[in-house]
Amino acid sequence: MLYPRPHRTAAMRDPTPTLIYLKDYTPPAFLIPRVDLEFELFEDFARVRARLAIERNPKAANRHGPLALDGEELALESIAIDGRALASTEYQAGAAGLSIAAPPERFTLETVVRIRPRDNAALSGLYASAAGFFTQCEAQGFRRITWFLDRPDVMSIYTTLIRADRDRYPVLLSNGNPAGGGAEDATACAIGAGATAPRHWAKWVDPFPKPSYLFALVAAKLEVLEDRFVTASGRPVRLAIYVDPGKLDQCGFAMEALKKAMRWDEQVFGLEVDLDQYMIVAVGDFNMGAMENKGLNIFNTRYILARQDTGTDTDFLNIDRVVAHEYFHNWTGNRVTCRDWFQLSLKEGLTVFRDQEYGADMYSRPVERIREVRSLRTVQFAEDAGPMAHPVRPAAYMEISNFYTSTIYEKGAELVRMIHTLVGAGNFRRGMDLYFRRHDGQAVTTDDFVQAMADASGIDLEQFRRWYEQAGTPLLKVRGAYDAGARRYTLEVKQSCPPTHGQPQKLPFHIPLAVGLLGADGRDLPLRLQGESPPLAAERAGPGAITRVLSVTQPAQTFVFEGVAEPPVPSLARGFSAPVVLDFDYDEAALTHLMAHDADPFNRWEAGQRLATGILLRATENLRSGGRAAEPPAAFIDACARILKDGPADPAFAAEALTLPAESYLAELMAVADPDAIHAARDGLRRQLAERLQPALLDTYRTQTPPGAYSPDAAPAGKRALRNLALSLLMELEDPAIRLLALKQFDGADNMTDTMAALVALANCDCPERAGALERFYEKWQNEPLVVDKWLAVQAGSRLRGTLAAVKRLAAHAAFNLRNPNKVYALIGGLRANPVHFHAADGAGYAFLADQVIALDSFNPQIAARLARGFDRWKKYDTGRQAQARAALQRIRDTTRLSKDVAEIVSRSLG
Ligand SMILES: [Zn+2]
Repeated sequence: MLYPRPHRTAAMRDPTPTLIYLKDYTPPAFLIPRVDLEFELFEDFARVRARLAIERNPKAANRHGPLALDGEELALESIAIDGRALASTEYQAGAAGLSIAAPPERFTLETVVRIRPRDNAALSGLYASAAGFFTQCEAQGFRRITWFLDRPDVMSIYTTLIRADRDRYPVLLSNGNPAGGGAEDATACAIGAGATAPRHWAKWVDPFPKPSYLFALVAAKLEVLEDRFVTASGRPVRLAIYVDPGKLDQCGFAMEALKKAMRWDEQVFGLEVDLDQYMIVAVGDFNMGAMENKGLNIFNTRYILARQDTGTDTDFLNIDRVVAHEYFHNWTGNRVTCRDWFQLSLKEGLTVFRDQEYGADMYSRPVERIREVRSLRTVQFAEDAGPMAHPVRPAAYMEISNFYTSTIYEKGAELVRMIHTLVGAGNFRRGMDLYFRRHDGQAVTTDDFVQAMADASGIDLEQFRRWYEQAGTPLLKVRGAYDAGARRYTLEVKQSCPPTHGQPQKLPFHIPLAVGLLGADGRDLPLRLQGESPPLAAERAGPGAITRVLSVTQPAQTFVFEGVAEPPVPSLARGFSAPVVLDFDYDEAALTHLMAHDADPFNRWEAGQRLATGILLRATENLRSGGRAAEPPAAFIDACARILKDGPADPAFAAEALTLPAESYLAELMAVADPDAIHAARDGLRRQLAERLQPALLDTYRTQTPPGAYSPDAAPAGKRALRNLALSLLMELEDPAIRLLALKQFDGADNMTDTMAALVALANCDCPERAGALERFYEKWQNEPLVVDKWLAVQAGSRLRGTLAAVKRLAAHAAFNLRNPNKVYALIGGLRANPVHFHAADGAGYAFLADQVIALDSFNPQIAARLARGFDRWKKYDTGRQAQARAALQRIRDTTRLSKDVAEIVSRSLG
């Protein structure tokens, strides 16, 4: 079956999607300090009884209005105030809400609703997966469970009682601490339809007030891995990871990651876990990566489960980072939460920054930074240049699910990092302490965060706030001039920012620009800005003396360095000190000098990327005009040879340095993107590298095998990364002996990293070994869903002709299921991320994506909208492709009963 038949309900469609504005924010008219929930779970429905202690908010503007509660797809069974059932004239229940015209000042509202978790394919609210029932409430899923003020500034103490079939759902969990449980007596069972099987119950109490988006419930058949953590202050905490039966041998790494993250947060930020127990549940059907529900995190299985033969080094790294990320939310998100959803980056930007710092401390700081910036530039810069461009604190949205974006997360983290750079590490920590002291238990704004940083550091961050308000990637044009007579080096810096959706004009940003100057011998020159006293003697100079953070605040500014003994090569934006596009006229010699000598490893990598980007863009232009790509300059080949030679000293860094810029990144740099020419140019350069460096690559392949048993740690993972990069370059030679190496690695590897590297190499190669390898892989792993995802992704990502046809066949394969988000991301998302096939000139890729978006939208609008983002950059392409993309977008737009999720994306894209 290609597509499942969707179950449609009226309430899911919003007849008149409207924009919601930040400027319209008002405090809630009512508060709900206590919530008592009772869930009765049956196969065909669930009954939810909610007792809400409600009172008027003394801070509300209007103290006399009606009570308006959110609710979607709820069938009301009964409603009472203070024990008195309401007459049908006393309330109004509609498709999107329930209102009570004249409620008392303070009362208990009791509602009973029926919901249908098994029909909930949107995976928002309470839904069913293979092992049982699960919830996802962020951002607005709780209103699909019961009537509520479903907004983050309404915080409540929750008590949750769960009743369910004992044998099917032996594990009953909710937030907080357990407060009893046991078998149900027979009379209580009688209320369920045909409930003759034995049932049981469990009660949970969460002592911390929380917004409804942090509510969670699980009723399932699961196995548990338990452990224990003792906090710095000596309090023992029970740790538990619940997984599908048979998967316990795949969650040990996640448990270790959890304990590491807890210790790190104590050491770096002085923050301890605050509950008696901390639980994680892994589920295979999940829209997002993971969710930080208070005390009961719910994770996509892909961020929990891994064994050396099922997970790659990247999977292990992601598990480490995501487990840490969700744990860190317990303070940055749960203890201090968001006032409204415009403030989403308050918790996400800050928590991504925290998990980045954790990653930097656990692995290689430069390599982690390189990977983060690569992703920021490929995804977020493109977002900032497209129809979905929005500030880190958006001013308006139609559907908040569409704003879980790279801008909110990754650019949001860059903003926090820039504050860290501007105020310094010590002040940053003082700022965090002040933030928690002021706002613990509150729902606050990004302004409150910046204010705490400014107050704790005494540093003026007023202009910096514009980063939260203005969308777009600033352009920093820098020019350097050396005056030998005056021994003076002048940097002229001009900033600008292109117009974005609704923001034609931008005010200047406050940009931290970290700068160093390299001499001819590659050493850093001491830095003294005009007007400063002479620098410290070289041997006493700390790192501050060779890197200066310049505060760029004006549209145009000049910085003069004095006492500069020789014409320097500037190293600009060290460590990627700001999320900007940096324009500086580096020549080839300057870039190779930086590649070889820059004290900042990030900029060593950056110089190589600039060099490669120049070569690739020139080759693309030549191919477009019917010519041939020129030979790459000798300096580039020499630099790559040197990286390989130095590889053993830092293999992970060498692997990053030898990875050419992505096709999608190159497309962004062209006025009119030509995916075929970019692809041909990039493949061509890879082949040239392989030809020129063949002996060194073979040597790397033979020598960079990590010793001993498999470990996903940074050192052995780095060796595997470099070795597999060598293999993938060597495969460009189309040499049967190399293919044999790949096949041997594929069949003989004891870990998934090496298996996958070989499979990817073979899948990109039109060779006799390809089909057999793919077949054997599927046969071996068909019962491991996460490994099947890899099998789908590797085929969708292949550069071979016929990839789209293969993807269409796979969409009908038993291994695929449109209802499972991981499968959709692997196969459909895999094609979307494959520029040469997705942007095929005949429009077949666009038509296919439109079909999938339309099919998905009928039951899972969130995932459909995410896929529809594939059309974001359609105006970047030639008129032929534009016509094809426009037709596909219009076809989606004209679909009847389009969700507001997809409607918002498509209308902005066509806009
Ligand atoms: Zn998060």
